[in-house]
Amino acid sequence: APSLMMFRPMLISSILKHGMTHFGDQEIVSRETHGPLFCYTFAEMGARAAQLAHALQRLGVTPGGMVGSIAWNNHRHVEAYYAVSGSGMVIHTCNPRLHPDQLAYVINHAEDEVVLFDSTFAPLVKAIAPHCPKVKAWVCLSDAEHTPVIEGGPEVLCYDALIAPESTAFDWPDLDETSGAALCYTSGTTGNPKGVLYSHRGIFLNATTSCMGGVLNLSAQEAVLPVVPMFHINAWCIPYSALVGGAKLVLPGPKLDGASLYELMEAEQVTLAAGVPTIWMGLLQHVDQQGARFNYLKRTLVGGSAMPKALIGKFVDTYGVEVRHGWGMTETTSVATLSVLSRRDLARPADERQAIVARQGKPVSGIEIKVVDENGQTLPRDDIAQGELMVRGHWIMERYFKSDKTALINGWFPTGDIATISADGVLTIRDRTKDVIKSGGEWISSIDLENAAAGHPAVAMAAVIGVKHPKWDERPLLFIVRKPGQSVEKQDILDFLVERVAKWWVPDDVMFLDSLPVGGTGKVQKNELRKQFAGGAD
Ligand code: ADP
Repeated sequence: APSLMMFRPMLISSILKHGMTHFGDQEIVSRETHGPLFCYTFAEMGARAAQLAHALQRLGVTPGGMVGSIAWNNHRHVEAYYAVSGSGMVIHTCNPRLHPDQLAYVINHAEDEVVLFDSTFAPLVKAIAPHCPKVKAWVCLSDAEHTPVIEGGPEVLCYDALIAPESTAFDWPDLDETSGAALCYTSGTTGNPKGVLYSHRGIFLNATTSCMGGVLNLSAQEAVLPVVPMFHINAWCIPYSALVGGAKLVLPGPKLDGASLYELMEAEQVTLAAGVPTIWMGLLQHVDQQGARFNYLKRTLVGGSAMPKALIGKFVDTYGVEVRHGWGMTETTSVATLSVLSRRDLARPADERQAIVARQGKPVSGIEIKVVDENGQTLPRDDIAQGELMVRGHWIMERYFKSDKTALINGWFPTGDIATISADGVLTIRDRTKDVIKSGGEWISSIDLENAAAGHPAVAMAAVIGVKHPKWDERPLLFIVRKPGQSVEKQDILDFLVERVAKWWVPDDVMFLDSLPVGGTGKVQKNELRKQFAGGAD
């Protein structure tokens, strides 16, 4: 029988109204692109979001229209998240580290009508504007003083001046909750990027679920710092969940180095910070060098690539900061699985605890997972049988933007990740289909090898790729970045690994680099390594 409950759509504007009304005086602290910290409240943010919504209408963007952003994590970007989606338009967050050709491609493919950008990216705007004829206005997210004139480029509007004359009240419309709210393209490591169009409903449900104690634990007692970019998977929906839970929102702007992040965390009493492993390496290096401590930080949320066990140990056992390790991808809106220690786990020895957190954990409520073999048959949950990870749930993509065919197989999204699942539902990502190393007909997990190598005390970062081999098909090649001042050599690393991984997994060669190529989302770009070292070392 039909229920007798009223229906209210789950909208981005519902989140905004809730945050403004019930946590109106909660703070947002934001690093301006030109340096200083800016501070205001949820209520003031909402008022400016209303002004922006009016201004975008004045510029001629109609419901369903696309508004691009090329921006850091800052308060104007948050205003845009709410103004654009709340008024029925779609916010298309662009990754500024895309190649300019690809950036122009996604802006044109999305049919962005207005683009909001940070002054940092003015040269980029100058380069792409001639190739983006449909963009009616380029708006710099800044006050008048810091809005640049782009010589020989498009006319630039100043954001603060643009919204200033508008009303601070907006009648947020009741939209269809299944309509598009935000658009994000995959990084396009293979071919052109593909768009994922998120729904109001999916974001609403994810943002609400994220506040649960066993997920991000967001409430008005917390101060959350999303280091994960707002141009990448909605900063794991933290700009939304902070308003659902009423948590103080701290935004780092362009300053993502260890020293700046540490200073911001301490000054703003951040209790939860979220980002990719490379960000935390930089932070911990700084804290180590300074002999500093975290006075407020209770936990970090880490994901985007596998968090090495050694780094988990450092956070937890040296600094007393809990690590929650999540898995997700552009196609999953935000976090889909998360490792969180249970009461029983907490009583285990450090090494075992860290090993549990190094796995990718259990699906958060609303998400289901399974692993399948090449024929699509579901594999047992025994932690051994490995196959492609499939996912479904309230905030998982069904098809790519402007694609006329579903991306699903029998109702499940194929992730391209290779994984195992344990009897109690814990996911372990072993590799990506395109990174896995096939040696002598068997698979070597590049993630496991990297994890083992990163456990060496002199190693700052490790990456493994497969290189062609006449007999074994592929063999692993290990790249190491030494910690500053350390002098570890190839044989030390190999000796270290022999004791930790199967003998046939031990790489044939180790190369030492000053740094690893890292992409816009903070991940090691293995395709770059493959390009440069495709022939491999002898
Ligand atoms: P891309 O890495 O292609 O730019 P995404 O940001 O969508 O695009 O990355 C999603 C992928 O990142 C996943 O499919 C998975 O391979 C990897 N990933 C994300 N989180 C983790 C994690 N915690 N451990 C291992 N791999 C992860």
